[in-house]
Amino acid sequence: MSQTTAAVLAAMGAAQPYATSQPLALEQLDLAPPGPGEVLVRIEAAGLCHSDLSVVNADRPRPMPMALGHEAVARVEAAGPNTRLKPGQRVVMAFLPACGHCQPCHTGEPWLCVSGAAANGKGELLGGGFRLSHHGQPVHHHLGLSAFATHAVIDERSCVVIDDDIPAEIAALFGCAVLTGVGAVFNSAAVRAGESVAVWGLGGVGLAALIGAVAAGAEPVIAIDPVPEKRALALELGARAAVAPQDVASAFAEHGAPRVAIESVGKGAVLAEAYRTAARGGRIVTVGLPNPADPFTIPAVSLVAEAKTVIGSYMGSAVPARDIPRYIALWRAGRLPVHRLLSGIRPMAEINDALDALASGQAIRQILIP
Ligand SMILES: [Zn+2]
Ligand SMILES: [Zn+2]
Repeated sequence: MSQTTAAVLAAMGAAQPYATSQPLALEQLDLAPPGPGEVLVRIEAAGLCHSDLSVVNADRPRPMPMALGHEAVARVEAAGPNTRLKPGQRVVMAFLPACGHCQPCHTGEPWLCVSGAAANGKGELLGGGFRLSHHGQPVHHHLGLSAFATHAVIDERSCVVIDDDIPAEIAALFGCAVLTGVGAVFNSAAVRAGESVAVWGLGGVGLAALIGAVAAGAEPVIAIDPVPEKRALALELGARAAVAPQDVASAFAEHGAPRVAIESVGKGAVLAEAYRTAARGGRIVTVGLPNPADPFTIPAVSLVAEAKTVIGSYMGSAVPARDIPRYIALWRAGRLPVHRLLSGIRPMAEINDALDALASGQAIRQILIP
């Protein structure tokens, strides 16, 4: 049994500001040794994602207590029996482990892995049960990772090996923001060069979708967000126009309705607007995670009459072992400026302050260093 210091959420729904309510507590937890196919890793850096905030504010309910964090880069320190990974290897984590044996895994759709989704829903590792405990009581894993920590035990099927030379704060981003946002464009929407793309919401995933659209040769790319600084960044990253939500109609009147509409806000009403304003024959891709009670309402006849397609994109329809190396290669070639998603690098002890910066809409991706 080893130890880790991890950011643990005891209860959802804390009041803001989080700097005062302190929903995440850095606690010393017991860490069981890695089982078959599992590794003990030392976390180098972990990104704070809106999905972490959605657990804290109960938009995405999870079993409690839970050690949060699902976007990280780490170094393998020890491997369990019958494990492919070796100590010393460096890995980016993917937040849905794929079992390799279920029907979606067999049909090349590991982002739909039945066993991985079931384990994530229960807050367990893919191999079953918990490796984290506090005074003998189990602590749930967040998406098989629990990466806001000094160390973690994770399934090797959550890992993609990467090179040593990528800065930790960049490497971490490939695990969620880039995998999800770029994947929504490349895989879920299969954007072709010259197609028009609009992106609603310029958080980490939305901006990743925007740089993915630019890399895919989309034209024009239109960004929509209420925060002026994020709109300015979108223009620097290659958007033709960047507008506040109330100016969508005039932007589309000028540049044309988008053939591909990407919604990363996580609100049913925004998804409905993306659907309504997309071009006839358009593809509407949603990567946001609305509250389970939030409905998506459209006129049923419009699906046929306007020949639109609504696509739900989970984890960027990614095959992580295929896609993360591709996205890293594009970053190396200067065509995916992933580093522009970074809002700051902070010590893990500031995680509740970082939650406030994320909730305010000002921060894009903050990297926490354990
Ligand atoms: Zn995430
Ligand atoms: Zn599977």
